[in-house]
Amino acid sequence: MASADSPGTPLTRLPGIGPRLAERLGRLGLRRVEDLPFHLPLRYEDRTRVRRVGELEPGLGALVEGTVTASEVVSGRRRRLVCRLSDGTGSLELVFFHFYANQARQLARGTRLRVFGEARPGPVTLQMVHPDWEAVSEDADPPAGGFVPVYPATEGINQPSLRRAISAALAWSGSVTEWLPAQLLVDLGLPTLTAALQRVHAPSADTDVEALLAGDDPAIQRLAYEELLAHRLSLLRLRAEQRSLAPAPILQEGKTLTRDLLTSLGFALTGAQQRVDGEVSADMGERRPMLRLVQGDVGSGKTVIAALAALRAIGSGWQAAVMAPTELLAEQHLRSFRAWLEPLGLTVGWLSGRSTAAQRRPTLEGLQAGDIPLVVGTHALFQERVVFRGLGLVVVDEQHRFGVHQRLALRNKGAGGVQPHQLVMTATPIPRTLAMTAYADLDVSVIDELPPGRTPVTTVAMPDTRRQEVVDRIRHACAAGRQAYWVCTLVEESDVLEAEAAEATASRLAEQLPELRIGLVHGRLAATAKEAVMRRFEAGEVDLLVATTVIEVGVNVPNASLMIIENPERLGLAQLHQLRGRVGRGETRSSCVLLYHGPLGETARARLGILRESNDGFRIARRDLEIRGPGEVLGTRQTGALTYRIADLLRDGHLLERVQASAPGLLNDHPEAVTALIRRWVGEGERYAQV
Ligand code: ADP
Ligand code: MG
Repeated sequence: MASADSPGTPLTRLPGIGPRLAERLGRLGLRRVEDLPFHLPLRYEDRTRVRRVGELEPGLGALVEGTVTASEVVSGRRRRLVCRLSDGTGSLELVFFHFYANQARQLARGTRLRVFGEARPGPVTLQMVHPDWEAVSEDADPPAGGFVPVYPATEGINQPSLRRAISAALAWSGSVTEWLPAQLLVDLGLPTLTAALQRVHAPSADTDVEALLAGDDPAIQRLAYEELLAHRLSLLRLRAEQRSLAPAPILQEGKTLTRDLLTSLGFALTGAQQRVDGEVSADMGERRPMLRLVQGDVGSGKTVIAALAALRAIGSGWQAAVMAPTELLAEQHLRSFRAWLEPLGLTVGWLSGRSTAAQRRPTLEGLQAGDIPLVVGTHALFQERVVFRGLGLVVVDEQHRFGVHQRLALRNKGAGGVQPHQLVMTATPIPRTLAMTAYADLDVSVIDELPPGRTPVTTVAMPDTRRQEVVDRIRHACAAGRQAYWVCTLVEESDVLEAEAAEATASRLAEQLPELRIGLVHGRLAATAKEAVMRRFEAGEVDLLVATTVIEVGVNVPNASLMIIENPERLGLAQLHQLRGRVGRGETRSSCVLLYHGPLGETARARLGILRESNDGFRIARRDLEIRGPGEVLGTRQTGALTYRIADLLRDGHLLERVQASAPGLLNDHPEAVTALIRRWVGEGERYAQV
């Protein structure tokens, strides 16, 4: 029997499952006996009632009853047994290509049959090929077949063997242990696990199977609840384990530094920034390591929050590391941090994957000796050779591109029995339901206010047949002293192709707009070349910047008031919203032109429509979630954390509040149940492997 501590029971332990079937079941993600009960039907065959032959429709699986009025073996290209079945309302052909002589006798004229099969168009009447059948008497009992489940299958596995395997697993002791406390189920009004599985795999004749399939049934809700709970428990346990490994340093000094920065900024923090800064500062004053996510729309001013946190760490005698997912974003941070911290007498170090050994050496030495209090960089910061004298704070920007585990790797850079506080920042507005599941291991702060003086961006969608109009618009904007972006997108994630497309676009625009100074940035340019173009754009020496999506984050040019996005239908809404956030940073009215390649499908049209209507990142993300699903919204790297077997965030989002409420009690009072639930739903490999 499977206990909470065993990895599970091999499928071959079940009667009737040999290595071959086990291997095929594995392709459906079914690897242990304990997985089988949670493989739910796609649909049900209705064997609860007998239908009239005259009512049958092609494609419909149905049970009918009637008398064989003709039966003959037809020879021809394929020898077959053909019977005609009539019930007074119509007749139907039953066709058997494989049959025994005995069978031909059993299906002789005059026999009364009950038949289940899928009706298809035949030469004369509808026909059923190889239906299930049994001979019945005139006064037979009503059908006892009920609803027969049809499961998602794969090549080499048929429905009967899936059904047998799943029933065997349901009967196997220990595979469906109830881990939820009885009182909890009573409070939630949800059925027991056994009752829920019974209802799903073998619904009684009076079940509303449509509701069951739609998930609108207590049985499915019970399973979805348990699954969401297991995922939440897993993240909470991960967080508890992480926190228990080592304490963090108390970072509550640095008041002079933060005051000096605030006076030098030239703007006052918004109310939202002040609140979030307060939350961060409170966390950093604790021995318990901070694990906080700061969410804020593009341009909401997250960088200042990070800088203030860094100054607290530095003022308390510790170091801070700021990590970004792309070179360009990291470079942008480097510039902000240098501009803010160097006047305070602090050195800001730089580590990127492109730095040469000679460039790195002084930085690495400075970090180890403690002479460099703050370092900005990319993934390069994860590397083993990077040693800190005393790392007290890690800031990770755009967390969704790193993934939970990469973030955890930096934790190990702490020294002397401490781990750094962690501040994660994301501009991807994540709907609450997603945040609660994807980031359950983090506390969340939201900057829900933009700095004053921003003008909302007007967004229009146009087919690329109107490209000339758009080019004229750029000409006018630049003639009026404004700057513009032209963003090229590609379907494939290929740096080379993307760079080529951007180059082609840039030269075409150069021909059409000879009076403009055009710059080009793409992922294939050397960091220094890219930086040079960006600087010229920032300094107003470039009018039109042609770019790939590398400019998505990290560019801040308030004078740029026009953005053209080519083939916007290729990008996610959140990504488009981020791109668009590059304009509307100054006082001028800004606009964004979505230059699509028509004709657009209905979904694409709806998605671009959302962008036109709204400038609210959270609303956009919520709609994106509805249209595309959670994996796409968060980016592929995190989909692992969000693929559920049964739960559906849109359908079952209302359960999350209760999931959140019951998780702490379970962690405290039923640790063995927590372990078993995590094993059942989350598995062990993925989430814990790299911690
Ligand atoms: P994001 O949240 O997208 O990272 P940034 O931190 O890059 O936003 O801030 C965008 C711009 O707004 C920067 O130029 C920054 O200096 C400026 N900014 C930040 N906070 C304020 C504020 N309270 N008032 C005015 N400007 C601000
Ligand atoms: Mg930012």
